[in-house]
Amino acid sequence: MKTERLYYDEPYLLEFDAEVVETLDLGDRVGVILDRTAFYPTSGGQPNDTGTIDGVALVDCYDDEKSGNIIHVVAEKPRSGRVHGQVDAARRTDHRQQHSGQHVLSQAFVELFGWATVSFHLGAVTCTIDLPVDSISSDQAASAEDLANRIVQENRAVSIRYLNQDNIAEAGLRKATERTGEIRVIDISGFDRSACGGTHVRMTHEIGPILITGISRAKKQARVEFICGNRVLRHAREANRALETISQTVSSSLFDTPSAVAAVWGDLQQARKRIEDLESRLLDHEAAAFQVKDGLALGAFRDRGIETLKLLAAKIAARPATVVLLADQSDQLRIVFARSADSVVDVSAILKKTIEQFGGRGGGRPNVAQAGGLNALSAETILEFAAKLARQAG
Ligand SMILES: [Zn+2]
Repeated sequence: MKTERLYYDEPYLLEFDAEVVETLDLGDRVGVILDRTAFYPTSGGQPNDTGTIDGVALVDCYDDEKSGNIIHVVAEKPRSGRVHGQVDAARRTDHRQQHSGQHVLSQAFVELFGWATVSFHLGAVTCTIDLPVDSISSDQAASAEDLANRIVQENRAVSIRYLNQDNIAEAGLRKATERTGEIRVIDISGFDRSACGGTHVRMTHEIGPILITGISRAKKQARVEFICGNRVLRHAREANRALETISQTVSSSLFDTPSAVAAVWGDLQQARKRIEDLESRLLDHEAAAFQVKDGLALGAFRDRGIETLKLLAAKIAARPATVVLLADQSDQLRIVFARSADSVVDVSAILKKTIEQFGGRGGGRPNVAQAGGLNALSAETILEFAAKLARQAG
């Protein structure tokens, strides 16, 4: 015996009584099979309903396609053979809005561009349909959105019909169905007919506004992200708050924020460039004043960072006959060794021996080398060791 699906003909039914046919042991949970149910099981892109069975929360609800039964997953076994089911109303309303909105939007893309929806997913935050095209322009998306909203505003009737597979061809379905036997069809008066088992609105105005929130590419198809009904209101509210915060930060009116933010971004880029120039000039001075003794420049630093260390080493090594050994202690102990063009000391060989002594990873060329992650008590200890090698090499 298959579970009788009350939601097929009464998608607004939220409470029902039913007999327990069987209970299944699902480990720490129980699967309950009822003779009839108003709970929608996950299928056709629409997630399952939630709610309670005799006051116990329904955790999951799915279709066992082999038996035709619907499995209600709950935490504990019902106490009696007769139970009372209660469907979560807000979730059902939301799913009705999203799923019916999808039928309207999908048909709008067919009517305007001939693009038949390949797949549909109703997510917790947004919904998506995939269309068999490479790209969709924002103008195309807007015209499909306009048509869909016009159908909503025309408040067309949405009816449930049952056809059999022999006369399904004449029904003019948006998408061919692989189902056999009796086929449930959702008919949006004069606009769309689709084979579907989902829960839908009675009149299109109940869908509320339909808003496309994004277009992206997905496996050689275009993915249209959209929301309907109450989700649009929440989205608008949050988007408005975000925009308000940004507009206050950049001191502009709400719809001038794009140019105001672009201007701030431009200023930031310029400022970064200027800081770079100034830092470089500061390093020039530091390098010029850097003490070099017997052709050896030694420097132990804290928190200068590898990029600054490399720049400084290069600037000091611009002097003739100089070997530069710098170490910096920040999140890790790093070293940069360099030599001037006229020096014959191989700093990568010194670096290699230093790593052998203190650990760490790195390498380079005879004229410049660097390493990080060294293990020593201080930067000075490392420099002392490397300086000895440099003196031997020079
Ligand atoms: Zn559907």
